[in-house]
Amino acid sequence: MNTPRPELRVNGQRLWDSLMELARIGATDKGGVCRLALTSLDQQGRDLVTCWAREAGMTVTVDKIGNVFMRRAGRNSALPPVMTGSHIDTQPTGGKFDGNYGVLAGLEVVRTLNDQGIETEAPIEVAFWTNEEGSRFVPVMMGSGVFAKAFTLEHAYAATDTEGKSVQQELARIGYIGEEEPGEHPIGSYFETHIEQGPVLEDHGKTIGVVTGVLGIRWYDCTVTGMEAHAGPTPMALRRDALQVASRLMQEVVACAHRHPPHGRGTVGMVQVHPNSRNVIPGRVKFSIDLRNASDALCEAMDADIRAVASRLAVETGLAITIQPVSAYPAQPFHPDCVAAVARAAEALGYTSMPVVSGAGHDAVYMARLAPAGMIFIPCKDGISHNEIEDAQPEHITAGCNVLLHAMLERAGRV
Ligand SMILES: [Zn+2]
Repeated sequence: MNTPRPELRVNGQRLWDSLMELARIGATDKGGVCRLALTSLDQQGRDLVTCWAREAGMTVTVDKIGNVFMRRAGRNSALPPVMTGSHIDTQPTGGKFDGNYGVLAGLEVVRTLNDQGIETEAPIEVAFWTNEEGSRFVPVMMGSGVFAKAFTLEHAYAATDTEGKSVQQELARIGYIGEEEPGEHPIGSYFETHIEQGPVLEDHGKTIGVVTGVLGIRWYDCTVTGMEAHAGPTPMALRRDALQVASRLMQEVVACAHRHPPHGRGTVGMVQVHPNSRNVIPGRVKFSIDLRNASDALCEAMDADIRAVASRLAVETGLAITIQPVSAYPAQPFHPDCVAAVARAAEALGYTSMPVVSGAGHDAVYMARLAPAGMIFIPCKDGISHNEIEDAQPEHITAGCNVLLHAMLERAGRV
């Protein structure tokens, strides 16, 4: 067993054709896809993908949050499956590849194993997770989050869209409330193939991103309080200008990211100036801070860094500065064995690759809490995603799927 067959390749044209066929369900005029979670279009997408799975000889099970598992038997059915998957819901102005690629790449792996008559020791499973995008229902990554017990099934069921329809009602309406208890489904290891949704691979001219982990996130609200006063009569030395101090701290948010390379990120995306009047010295400024890095320790270091800078500024200027945490998501490193399997597969197949981190969340983040997990990134045009113009090259689509095939075979054990 396990004789290396580096010449083994997926059928890239078949994968591309399946992507284009799925993209017709909810297709938009601008070439994108609008297939929001648990709509009738989502139902059509789910029906099509599970129909393809059955045609490929797979058995299909559904859990109570509508996560779907499509299984190809292994020689030893007692072994937990080597799983891959992603999501098929999209943003309102979404693209053809985000999520859909990860699911259909898994299906193409199975079709290829069928074509070649290859049996694996462990079963192979392809999953799609309910409501990854979080566009219609909050929270995001809902199906995988319930599966990983990050929040309860009841919490997810109760979520409503803007029309007041609940997740539970809509799941029932489209016929995707299954029997399985979410999470009661063993996973041996998990891989997810995804477009990068950023510009790094394209910038470096690499085909495969070997994803080492997902960045941790810290969100804060920062308030600088001074004193509003008339812009004319108040001399410069006697002002308590909140915006001048806030803008220095905003610069420091970016500088803080630069002080924690290579993965530090610092963003001020939202600013409110009070009273926001042309001839009044600003008395209060509130702004958001978004800090990210590759480990919780680095996120912690950035937290300490920005707080130290803020207290120095407060002492120096005499203005009050508060930094209030809003939410935090831990960094999620992927399992060294899965990361290595992806890197080895890329190398054996002769693709250029580089280690990358994911700045966006994925279902694999929750799976990594349950089993050894890893991700494979491919470039997308200009790094653009969550946009109807999202695009990826067919050869990259094929390459990522070939890497998935070989990484999964390594973990599943070929007979
Ligand atoms: Zn996605």
